[in-house]
Amino acid sequence: MTYAFTPVPQPTLPIKGSDNLFPIHRIYCVGRNYAEHTKEMGGDTKDPPFFFQKNPDNIVTDGKFPYPPATQNLHFEIELVVGLKSGGVNIKPADAMGHVFGYAVGIDMTRRDLQDVAKKLARPWEVAKAFEASAPCTALVPAAQVADPSKGAIWVDVNGERRQTGDLSQMIWDIPNQIAFLSTLFELKSGDLIFTGTPAGVGAIKKGDKLKGHVAGVGDLEVAVI
Ligand code: MN
Repeated sequence: MTYAFTPVPQPTLPIKGSDNLFPIHRIYCVGRNYAEHTKEMGGDTKDPPFFFQKNPDNIVTDGKFPYPPATQNLHFEIELVVGLKSGGVNIKPADAMGHVFGYAVGIDMTRRDLQDVAKKLARPWEVAKAFEASAPCTALVPAAQVADPSKGAIWVDVNGERRQTGDLSQMIWDIPNQIAFLSTLFELKSGDLIFTGTPAGVGAIKKGDKLKGHVAGVGDLEVAVI
């Protein structure tokens, strides 16, 4: 038996300091995991965070983000990305960090106008979140090289101007609790990525803009909107 046609390539992330690649299984994203962002989106900070997904092949690592079709309001969301080396179900928070392979800096690109329509009509979010190239990302930094992913600055500049700024310690669900909660809903597997939410200051970008995102202890992500 063989495939009826050539399968699309396995999506991957580079690994800092290694020739090996991290094969991506799924991409989970946390919504409203920083209270100040929840407020700017008009949400209730008493509501718990929630999850949505992007497609594994939405990841781009070449520093180029092609402005997508079908939107007049494309927003950036700077996020710490967690990569898993193993998974399971009903993982306890105390065991969760043992499943982490490493960390990256990512941007959750969002067609905000389509998301607003989806919210209004109680429709799903894929058209707003899971489109081509919607997840620019750096290489993964192995967990052993990241001193403390529970705190530190997270920010993004657009054309040299600071637009989003926060601290990883402001997450409502920290990384262990994200992994634990996700594992009650899905069977987590090696190769899963988690976009851990974004601080306040999201906004629109246009063709020609240059973004530079930073997560303390992980690195920088530079993206050109083309
Ligand atoms: Mn996000």
